[in-house]
Amino acid sequence: MSDLEPKLWSLAVEAPLRNALTYSSPEDGTDLVRGQRVIVPLGKRNTKAVVLGPGAENSEFKIRPVQSVDLESPILSDHFLKWLEWVSQYYVHPIGQVIESVFPPLPKTSKLRKSSRPAVVPTLEPQALPELTPQQSEVLKNISTKPEFSVHLLFGVTGSGKTEVYLRLLDQILKSNKTGMVLVPEISLTPQLVQRFARRFGDQVAVLHSQLTDRERTTQWWDIVEGRKKILIGARSALFCPIPDLGIIVVDEEHEPSFKQDEKLKYHGRDSAVMLGKMMNCPVVLGSATPSLETWKNASEGKYHLHRMTHRVENRSLPDVQIINLRESKEDADEQKKKKALYQLPSWLHSDLFLAIEKTLARKEQVALFLNRRGVAPMMTCPACGYVHECPNCDISLTLHGRNHLVCHYCDYHETAKEICPSCKEGEMRPIGVGTEQVENDIQKLFPGARVARADRDEIQNRADLEDLIEKMETREIDILVGTQMIAKGLDFPGLTLVGLVLADVGFNLPDFRSTERSFQLMTQMSGRAGRHIKAGETPGQVFIQTLNPDHPSLTYAIKAEFEAFAEFELQSRQPLFYPPFGRLASFRIQGQHLDRVQEAAEKLAKRAVHLKSKNPNFEGIEVLGPAEAPMAKLRGQFRYHLLLKSKTGKGLTSFCYQIMGQEDWLPAGVRLSVDVDPLHLL
Ligand code: ADP
Ligand code: ZN
Repeated sequence: MSDLEPKLWSLAVEAPLRNALTYSSPEDGTDLVRGQRVIVPLGKRNTKAVVLGPGAENSEFKIRPVQSVDLESPILSDHFLKWLEWVSQYYVHPIGQVIESVFPPLPKTSKLRKSSRPAVVPTLEPQALPELTPQQSEVLKNISTKPEFSVHLLFGVTGSGKTEVYLRLLDQILKSNKTGMVLVPEISLTPQLVQRFARRFGDQVAVLHSQLTDRERTTQWWDIVEGRKKILIGARSALFCPIPDLGIIVVDEEHEPSFKQDEKLKYHGRDSAVMLGKMMNCPVVLGSATPSLETWKNASEGKYHLHRMTHRVENRSLPDVQIINLRESKEDADEQKKKKALYQLPSWLHSDLFLAIEKTLARKEQVALFLNRRGVAPMMTCPACGYVHECPNCDISLTLHGRNHLVCHYCDYHETAKEICPSCKEGEMRPIGVGTEQVENDIQKLFPGARVARADRDEIQNRADLEDLIEKMETREIDILVGTQMIAKGLDFPGLTLVGLVLADVGFNLPDFRSTERSFQLMTQMSGRAGRHIKAGETPGQVFIQTLNPDHPSLTYAIKAEFEAFAEFELQSRQPLFYPPFGRLASFRIQGQHLDRVQEAAEKLAKRAVHLKSKNPNFEGIEVLGPAEAPMAKLRGQFRYHLLLKSKTGKGLTSFCYQIMGQEDWLPAGVRLSVDVDPLHLL
């Protein structure tokens, strides 16, 4: 090629465009390389882009030159770009928008303002290293022997010392002059966790999570990228930080659904981490007490290395779990009625749990009550005509908060509750069911001397609230904690010896094939909060599970802490239907303000799918389910339909998705189409 001929480049442009665009070299003749960030004209404005490689002539558009090279941003490595390209392809999301997640929000050079907030990572005195348990040593040895790409499942009961294993692995990585990445669910990225890492590794630790300011995020990002810090702890989006010399990736609580992003780029943090490990050729360690069935299947088939830790450290005992059947026999029910009258108990509280709370408080220990429902009551109904007060924008009942405040938990719609039924104008509206606010009120009345705190999304709105709560639990300024599952994750309080699950059944019957798995995980995780520091031989922590379905498999296995038996049971029920982890799913959502157009689009999409399948024998294993109204048929004023694809072998699914979407020129106006590959929620 002569010097006069402009070179063409394929660029991932930070804009909502399906494909990469072709540009020519900058007019000043600067040469470009793959991975470089540049500034390009797009329409009338300029935007950022990343060079993917040489480009091809494209007759549709006039090719314009790259305007300039962004000298500040680092050049992304080929391996890292390959990973970004994989993410884009696999999750059917434009490469330019995938690349947007890579760079920090602010320019590096902008003025450094001294932040008045406490340090992102605290400076703490190091502590003496605990002597590893035999199980910890064994696991450490087995993982350390594989410095190249390999995936490890660290399956350890709650309190078995998984975090200590991560710390030792990271220590080895630092000694070999590499860096490490630790991904945790956003909610468990608490000061408790960060402190443990800061104690061990001092100022080598950087943190990325959603509560940082743009300036803090930018600083942490550059500290990692320029090698001043060697360990990155972060929520799922930390994956997109181009950390140099990556030596290990740890994904803690790998089963957590929050690793999947459910809007825009719908990637799964764990699966993407495994792929990043593959591209970077480093080991990936997945840790959990209740592994996802996807991971469990891979581990039991030998694709992942399985490491078990079956005992809590220092042989601390696992809690004693009891099920309270709320659907009692006639005799028990009469007996229970008498007791409830005697103690003046609210309808949601069984006398056994009440008495256990009393005893725990008398011993000056702490109690936590979990219920997966916020507010006073999940529903207001009219006893006369059966009318249920629903959100005008969403297909869901409004939740009662406070005395008379009705709120939609999906779109935040508010209104004041009416006393008289708006439908029949006769009945008096009544709350049905119970939420955390009601539990808190009742508990405070029953135990007026106890200090009761509530932890749910209404009370805990940011990290500072959460930190405050944790501190009060640690210093025993709280006797009874009432909360949703959000607070159950990863917390570790020495004084907490009694956990009550107010109604385990919330979530049992969701129309989602994962609901049993999710309930099992939740039971186990919440139970795992009790008595974590009780020594072997002492009275173990106690867990009471109140339920209407005592025979539900998620319960019967959870009380015996039998993950492996549960996994086998659940896998057997999924196999005949080719549900994941046997087959794979992709879910299309079609939504818009006009129901008729949404329906039309859904029908068209289904036709395209059926037609493609009939034309191409490669797609024989793909099943087209629907279109149908989504279980939440209306959300935030948008009508929703979905179409589900199931691939029995897992093959061909992505290509099928791309082909039925086409250029989306067949979509009626005002209708939006999005696809979720490997969806976690089907609602
Ligand atoms: P997990 O992550 O499996 O739930 P952790 O790593 O949080 O377990 O360990 C539970 C508790 O035991 C923590 O307080 C931790 O400091 C402590 N611990 C971990 N390993 C040891 C050990 N080898 N000896 C003594 N205490 C330990
Ligand atoms: Zn709503």
